[in-house]
Amino acid sequence: MVKSISILGSTGSIGTQTLDVIKAHKAEFKIKSLACSGNIDILESQIKVFSPEFVSVYDKEKAGILRERVDISVESGMKGLLDVAKTDSSLVAAMVGSIGIRPVIEAINNGNDIILANKETLVSAGNIVMGLARKKGVSIIPIDSEHSAIFQCLCGEDMASIRKIILTCSGGPFREKSFEEMRNASPQEALSHPMWNMGRKISVDSATLMNKGLEVIEANMLFGVGPDKIEVVIHPECIVHSLVEFSDASVKALLGIPDMKLPIQYALTYPKRMSACSAGISLPEIGKLNFSKPDMKKFPCLGLAYSAASIGGSMPCVMNAANEVAVKGFLDGKISFSGIPEFVKQEMEKHYLIKNPSLDSILEIDERIKSVQI
Ligand code: MG
Repeated sequence: MVKSISILGSTGSIGTQTLDVIKAHKAEFKIKSLACSGNIDILESQIKVFSPEFVSVYDKEKAGILRERVDISVESGMKGLLDVAKTDSSLVAAMVGSIGIRPVIEAINNGNDIILANKETLVSAGNIVMGLARKKGVSIIPIDSEHSAIFQCLCGEDMASIRKIILTCSGGPFREKSFEEMRNASPQEALSHPMWNMGRKISVDSATLMNKGLEVIEANMLFGVGPDKIEVVIHPECIVHSLVEFSDASVKALLGIPDMKLPIQYALTYPKRMSACSAGISLPEIGKLNFSKPDMKKFPCLGLAYSAASIGGSMPCVMNAANEVAVKGFLDGKISFSGIPEFVKQEMEKHYLIKNPSLDSILEIDERIKSVQI
């Protein structure tokens, strides 16, 4: 049966790779709708290739320009994202940041399965999103390579038998730099990731290791094990994508070349596996795999994320929103690289915790922190 897909963030790194996978398996999929933030040139070419029923451009002015160029309906703003989310299809949530919260909830309320790349949504509103998904019988399949690996390791297993989840981490571009070299790093240095070619926000998050911190919280939400059972291990080759240790001390790992099309394809075709659009791995060619502990002093963001995860409630939302603000400030040249964890820590310390926040309070906290000028 042909599977209908809608994509939020279709012109970004994950969105374009998702469309590459879909193009390679054309007979299996139909694109219902696409949404992007403002890259209308790429969206226009996607409309020609994939013929969606309608599209949405978040930026209202750019939506107006695209409307002149294409003969399908072009929606805009948050309403446009919500319309794409509630279209009768599986939703690939690949936008960046907590802007994904409302559309993902809209999709779940509509009974649409979620193929999730937007980790900030689970970090900020994980309890609400996961609770609603369970209630509506909707599945949330992760695209993030580590979470896809864990998800695959857990197939056929009893969740109660998980002893530990081991999240692997490349270490980012500053793995071998000293704290002194790193603290005043330029945006360009922070954006040059050694293993993965990604969007700007996630690249900076990978340089601070906040990305791994967000992934600890994401894993906690998806697999419900508690942050004390999630261990981060530095693995620069990015071949082992993550591991699960079970109660009998057996450990399952998922290996593969570092190519996001693999977890994207698995999420799109789950529970089936289809032929790969990438080559496999050759262990003799790889030869050696390295593992070490992360330097928590050099990368304070990772510790902040563990602390937000164990405090719970509204704290991960605060941490995430503060990080989004700080990363933007860093990319705009307003704060230094080491200013990112400083700002996040300061916002977390100021916050008066809400133990069981409603969706409205999550959205309110998110909006309030994002309006802070730095
Ligand atoms: Mg990842």
